[in-house]
Amino acid sequence: MSQRVVVVGAGVIGLTTAIRLAEAGHGVEVVAAEPPQATTSAVAGALWGPWLVEPRERVLPWAAHTLRVLGELADHPGSGVRVATGVEVSRVSYDPPDWSGLLSDRTPCTSDELPPGYRHGFRYSAPLVDMPVHLNYLLSRLQAAGGTLTIQRLTSLDQEGTDPQAVVVNCSGIGARHLVPDVDLFPVRGYHVVVTNPGLTEFLEADTEDPVDLLAIYPHRDHVILGGTAEPEVWDRGRDDAIAAAIVDRCARLEPRLAKATIIEHRVGLRPTRAAIRVEAERSALGSLVIHNYGHSGAGVSLGWGCAEEVVSLVSAATRATGF
Ligand SMILES: Cc1cc2nc3c(=O)[nH]c(=O)nc-3n(C[C@H](O)[C@H](O)[C@H](O)COP(=O)(O)OP(=O)(O)OC[C@H]3O[C@@H](n4cnc5c(N)ncnc54)[C@H](O)[C@@H]3O)c2cc1C
Repeated sequence: MSQRVVVVGAGVIGLTTAIRLAEAGHGVEVVAAEPPQATTSAVAGALWGPWLVEPRERVLPWAAHTLRVLGELADHPGSGVRVATGVEVSRVSYDPPDWSGLLSDRTPCTSDELPPGYRHGFRYSAPLVDMPVHLNYLLSRLQAAGGTLTIQRLTSLDQEGTDPQAVVVNCSGIGARHLVPDVDLFPVRGYHVVVTNPGLTEFLEADTEDPVDLLAIYPHRDHVILGGTAEPEVWDRGRDDAIAAAIVDRCARLEPRLAKATIIEHRVGLRPTRAAIRVEAERSALGSLVIHNYGHSGAGVSLGWGCAEEVVSLVSAATRATGF
């Protein structure tokens, strides 16, 4: 049965969810305060890997599904996805993360694969997503499936500015803090510096033993994204030259070819973070059906397609139950 659905949010979560709903035959309108290129999703690096998000028993199946879909998209020119190889390294001994079991080619680093001072690491391949390109791909695919995008800031999920008969799917990222409202949701600011590519092809993520100042190198075709930061409760998305210089310095110490790279762009986003990702249905105060899909923190790109499938199931179940 076809259902009219309003998806709030045009980041990676909103667009993947809207695509799957539209491709399942529903009539989909996306309403978003900011267009895709102005979202946190456009800031992500973005390497598949569902770090630090809960609940793990739901996260791992979402991640496995998304890994599969992104792997297939890597074969589509224009999707912005490629399967890249690289290393995750640490100075101290650590257990590989639970999600690394989903990878087909994880191997411990040999000593010549480790940067000076690093003693442990593993080498693997995973989807690496050029987000501005990918978001354009997602929007085009949504429109090809009949979906639309309207730029509008909502002040309530209770159908303000939307069709009262529609199911509302809330993919508003950090915006859910005020829109739901949800005081358990908070921002973890992430800062990325985009530089010219001096010829890198492999990604590198290093354990800095510091939860705020991260170290990641994500090469795309003509540019490299250098990360980063994870600053809880910081809302400011403005440029900060001191933070950018520290990021470039950290990365260039591991990859000296970056020392002379030119800064092209600063990208700053707010990871929507809470104790557990929220994917569930509820009735709003006015009785309409709202399906939440937010709180993906630093892993939205790694989980989006899996969460979208769950939303499609929730919409189908609700449509059958109510005969909407
Ligand atoms: C520096 C950085 C690096 C990252 N790296 C990775 C990575 O390597 N891998 C990975 O998987 N993830 C990564 N992430 C995390 C990932 O970017 C997020 O999990 C993801 O972008 C969240 O997507 P979203 O669609 O929920 O939110 P957003 O992209 O923020 O989109 C939210 C949408 O909701 C809309 N909205 C909000 N409020 C309203 C309102 N009141 N009315 C209407 N619309 C509204 C917004 O306008 C926007 O369109 C990174 C994040 C950062 C910041």
